[in-house]
Amino acid sequence: MDQIKINLSEDQIPRQWYNLAADFKTPVKPPLGPDGNPISPDMLSKVFPMNIIEQEVSTERWIDIPEEILEMLYRWRPAPLRRAIYLEKHLKTPAKIYYKDESLSPAGSHKPNTAVAQAWYNKQFGIKKLTTETGAGQWGSALSFACSLVGLECTVFMVRISFDQKPFRKTLMRVWGGNCIPSPSDQTAAGRQILSENPDTPGSLGIAISEAIEMAVSDTTGETRYSLGSVLNHVMLHQTIIGLEAKKQLEIVGEKKVDVVIGCAGGGSNFAGLSFPFVNDKIHGAKIDIIGVEPTACPTLTRGAYAYDHGDIAQMTPLLAMHTLGHKFIPAPIHAGGLRYHGMAPLVSHAVCEGLIRPKAYDQITCYKAAQTWARTEGFVCAPETSHAIAGAIDEALKAKEECKEKVILFNYSGHGLMDLLGYEKFLNEELSDYSLPDDVLNKSLESIKDFPKL
Ligand SMILES: *Cc1c(COP(=O)(O)O)cnc(C)c1O
Repeated sequence: MDQIKINLSEDQIPRQWYNLAADFKTPVKPPLGPDGNPISPDMLSKVFPMNIIEQEVSTERWIDIPEEILEMLYRWRPAPLRRAIYLEKHLKTPAKIYYKDESLSPAGSHKPNTAVAQAWYNKQFGIKKLTTETGAGQWGSALSFACSLVGLECTVFMVRISFDQKPFRKTLMRVWGGNCIPSPSDQTAAGRQILSENPDTPGSLGIAISEAIEMAVSDTTGETRYSLGSVLNHVMLHQTIIGLEAKKQLEIVGEKKVDVVIGCAGGGSNFAGLSFPFVNDKIHGAKIDIIGVEPTACPTLTRGAYAYDHGDIAQMTPLLAMHTLGHKFIPAPIHAGGLRYHGMAPLVSHAVCEGLIRPKAYDQITCYKAAQTWARTEGFVCAPETSHAIAGAIDEALKAKEECKEKVILFNYSGHGLMDLLGYEKFLNEELSDYSLPDDVLNKSLESIKDFPKL
């Protein structure tokens, strides 16, 4: 009988995070300030605590995970590696499909891996309160949970339309003690300005980011900071525990080599978390196909420009060297809310440019079909974001069948979909449509970055 659940005990948890920035052949381009020069760490010090800024700019290969962070992670880590034998049988593939199950965390996704680390570092630095934004509510709930563990206040600006349409994520935040405010709000100058111009606005992630950063930097006590759930280097770093665990688990079942590694990519953090330790192997000669899957409606890696751009619509963040669709880009309302981001983690973008990662895009209905196949074989109901990774894994397994090769495929199961049933309901009722981004819309959106420094 094949082993289908591969677990590690607490004492087998990785004790260091892996930093890919240490191993690139060419250095990653630095973030730039408003004057076009590289920003200095202290320019970020009102936004993030210095211990996190140090991680953000670090090129150390291995960074110790503090014992107290491990103690928080033990609630759901090490996370199981599973083999999808029921899907393999259904596809009649000779490939072995493994997946890392990140859906078992308290918030139901990989996001608490970095949330608990960020909350802990802020607490260490003497911070009392964190602010953040959330779209569909995944990140806001993960950070609310993490803040409740370390004893920080947490204020989450949630995009108004989601606040109204997805009331249960707001409830989750409140259960964990988070304060969830619909954005735009009357609590910040940015929010008041937008409300006075357009009181009925549905809000946007860009507006919510502006409000969260404003609230953090304008606290004159200096005890508030801002927290981001993806994109930045320290977030990728914290997530590498996923891939480091997976390596140990594959070893246990005797897999010496992985042929394909797959993750869905929104801001890039769960994909980076699983793949970066394997990207390291690839840099050192291993033959691995590493695939980042994104939606055709928001094709950042497959069709975006590699350029300097802001991380948010209000241009509050430094200019980041990344694949981007333009900071004003508003993606079509697909259900994979976590993949509707215009930019990409600079570390992921750099790895794509170095030929280490291969991006791929799928449309929404293909992904829901993959999710349905998954639910009817493996049993679990995945997040709409995760369905992109599953669609990628199914294609690779079918390719292995054509080639008659017993490949080893590994993908990241970034979260469960039990709070995303509205999207499934629409899929089952055949009310969903595919959105492919027209060239002229993309080109128009990219005009917003034409005056920024070039790469
Ligand atoms: C937020 C989220 C994503 C996308 O974010 P990344 O930073 O790209 O990982 C993917 N899957 C789930 C379940 C999420 O909650």
